[in-house]
Amino acid sequence: MPENYDLHSHSTASDGALSPSELIQRAKEQGVTCLALTDHDTTDGLAEARQAATEAGIDLISGIELSTTWHKHCLHIVGLNIDPESPHLKEGIAKLQTIRGERAEQIAGKLEKKRIFGALEAVKATAGAGMITRTHFADFLLSEGHVTTQQEAFDRYIGQGKPAYVSTEWAGLEEAIGWIKESGGIAVLAHPMRYKLTASWMKRLLTAFKEVGGDAIEVVCGRNDPTEIQTSMQYAQKFDLAGSKGSDFHNPKYVWVELGRLKPLPERIKPVWDLFEAHTY
Ligand code: AMP
Ligand code: MN
Ligand code: MN
Ligand code: MN
Repeated sequence: MPENYDLHSHSTASDGALSPSELIQRAKEQGVTCLALTDHDTTDGLAEARQAATEAGIDLISGIELSTTWHKHCLHIVGLNIDPESPHLKEGIAKLQTIRGERAEQIAGKLEKKRIFGALEAVKATAGAGMITRTHFADFLLSEGHVTTQQEAFDRYIGQGKPAYVSTEWAGLEEAIGWIKESGGIAVLAHPMRYKLTASWMKRLLTAFKEVGGDAIEVVCGRNDPTEIQTSMQYAQKFDLAGSKGSDFHNPKYVWVELGRLKPLPERIKPVWDLFEAHTY
């Protein structure tokens, strides 16, 4: 059977709708042979996912999606094949979790100024033991009838520049890549086209990313079109970076991003999975 890699996905440990076991089950049904669980700033879903993956007979790559700030841009760095027990990584995650908690309070405060009450209690309840993300706020705004789609919640309230947006200083780029590398992982720039950087900023970013140990960029993502694949491929080649492929699956309701339904990685690109060590944690 040919391999079907999907190296970017979320569970209820952050803002995914499926539990780690449900996610593994769905990946299996969709023909994924190797899945990375990459929750936002947490590895808490990995133990359950590992057990489910063993039972389902699919390869699980231990992953994470770290929030970073670089020149005021929020950039997501996916760590693949990390060791979740690495002390440095754990410290980093703890720091990001504190930032997330404080930010959630600030977002809720801003919503109160718009006379929307009860957000903090609601997102804490829906996130449970998992990370609180803006997706939880979007779902709260949706369930309370303030908006009719998740997108509208971002467009009217919590997206960048909107009334309940909180500008956040996440981990530094070098710092986050350091945690990933110290844990034995591979550092991947997630969805490079989503940051809407100009070509010159993109070059600055990839130069910096490479300098601090970045290994790969996502060339094939869940929602990108052929031109974006082409552009990402050119960046990967120019900066001698490997290419990754991941759906960024969150929720089966959003059928336009399904697990394992990705275009192939262009042949000229070095696949990120060639960099994985034989071991998986
Ligand atoms: P956070 O890391 O808490 O800022 O939350 C970011 C998450 O919100 C992303 O990982 C996406 O899952 C989700 N998100 C960001 N922008 C949008 C959008 N425009 N529509 C729907 N979901 C979004
Ligand atoms: Mn998300
Ligand atoms: Mn992301
Ligand atoms: Mn993601």
